[in-house]
Amino acid sequence: DVRVSQLYKTFGDVTVLHEVDFTIRDGEFFTLLGPSGCGKSTTLNCIAGLEKPTGGTITVGDTTFVDSTAKIFRTPEERNLGMVFQSYALWPHMTVAANLAMPLTIRKASKKDKQQRIADALDKVGLAHLADRYPHQLSGGQQQRVALARALVYSPSVLLLDEPLSNLDAKLREQARAWLKALQAELGITTVYVTHDQDEALALSDRIAVMADGRMLQIGTPKEIYETPAAPEVAAFVGRCN
Ligand code: ATP
Ligand code: MG
Repeated sequence: DVRVSQLYKTFGDVTVLHEVDFTIRDGEFFTLLGPSGCGKSTTLNCIAGLEKPTGGTITVGDTTFVDSTAKIFRTPEERNLGMVFQSYALWPHMTVAANLAMPLTIRKASKKDKQQRIADALDKVGLAHLADRYPHQLSGGQQQRVALARALVYSPSVLLLDEPLSNLDAKLREQARAWLKALQAELGITTVYVTHDQDEALALSDRIAVMADGRMLQIGTPKEIYETPAAPEVAAFVGRCN
């Protein structure tokens, strides 16, 4: 499981996360949902190790990633997480295969292991035939799959996805949504998904955490969030207007 406890973050004298708490079960598709600026990416980046929390703890399984009191802070490389950003951030001067090789090289994988893992990861996203292409020779949807394959290539324990579908047009986004859900279920990988799109959250998630202004408003299944919103802001944001 992923346990986030009393997560607190300030930038200068602005508090952007106010003691945020949640626990994600193994294999769960868990979504952070909320309006722009509410602190979703900051929360995800604290899990990834790209931001250092001002206070609180983050634990994955038996491993403490961050404990601000005990002064524990593991680097992103030590956390074994896969991450996909809003902009896919593929290296433009490298082929698909070379993009996937990079995280393995950093981890000092053998050549044979590398080839096997790259082939497996591309197979998972259905792009084995595009290994030798460069990013600009791919469609937006294909680039998004490559970014996902790169996040999966070293068998991470947790997948962190920050608005990975937002660059796609509406039609492609629908397809990618169905495909992503199926892949996540097949792999059974614990997934933390960030979006400001309520439809996307309702369609994809096992549970949704609704945030506003750096605070957690409600955590529940899509049905619970939709049918019994805990606060007017949740009802307004998730789109039930009564
Ligand atoms: P969006 O949906 O637009 O991506 P978000 O929910 O992901 O929004 P965050 O990126 O987590 O929001 O930002 C939360 C708040 O923290 C915002 O007010 C933002 O301006 C502020 N913030 C984020 N990163 C920094 C930073 N490095 N320095 C200062 N303020 C920051
Ligand atoms: Mg964001």
